[in-house]
Amino acid sequence: MLGLTLGTGVGGGVITHGMLMTGSLGYGGELGHTIVEPGGPLCGCGSHGCLESLASATAIVNMAREFSKRFPESLIFASPEITAKVVFDSARAGDLAATIVVERATRALATAIGNYIHVFNPEHIIIGGGISKAGDLLIDSIQKKMPEYVMPSFHGTFSITLSKLVENAGIKGAASIVFYRIS
Ligand SMILES: [Zn+2]
Repeated sequence: MLGLTLGTGVGGGVITHGMLMTGSLGYGGELGHTIVEPGGPLCGCGSHGCLESLASATAIVNMAREFSKRFPESLIFASPEITAKVVFDSARAGDLAATIVVERATRALATAIGNYIHVFNPEHIIIGGGISKAGDLLIDSIQKKMPEYVMPSFHGTFSITLSKLVENAGIKGAASIVFYRIS
């Protein structure tokens, strides 16, 4: 399985044979820095167009802000503070600017997940972190796009679901590594 956390940044990990997959330096994989839009927005890591620069809460808020001149009447700007939740709620209410932002973020996610599927062939893709509270709109929007991003032989071989642990997944995962090592 493969886990993605969508929060201030985008984190992730790959679990294989019950263990977190790590590399030569012990890192678990920087899934958020997969480039999904070459030449796209500047990412905190210094590259352009990483998944994190398009699908993190920070990225969603930045993309929404760019629409303040083009869509000043958008529901996004009726809120005292622009957050990823405001953007998803506005998209759910049919707001055009918010829908464009959600489409771009979920297209970035579908592109990245398609790449992960081809590399790791996971059975389950679990999405957690603060943005996962956007729920069905997030998952449905990603799932609808998946056939464009995976080879036909992979169709129907994986599930994409929301994390049940949401923001507690990281701490529980870290604890499970300790328990595994001492047991
Ligand atoms: Zn990056």
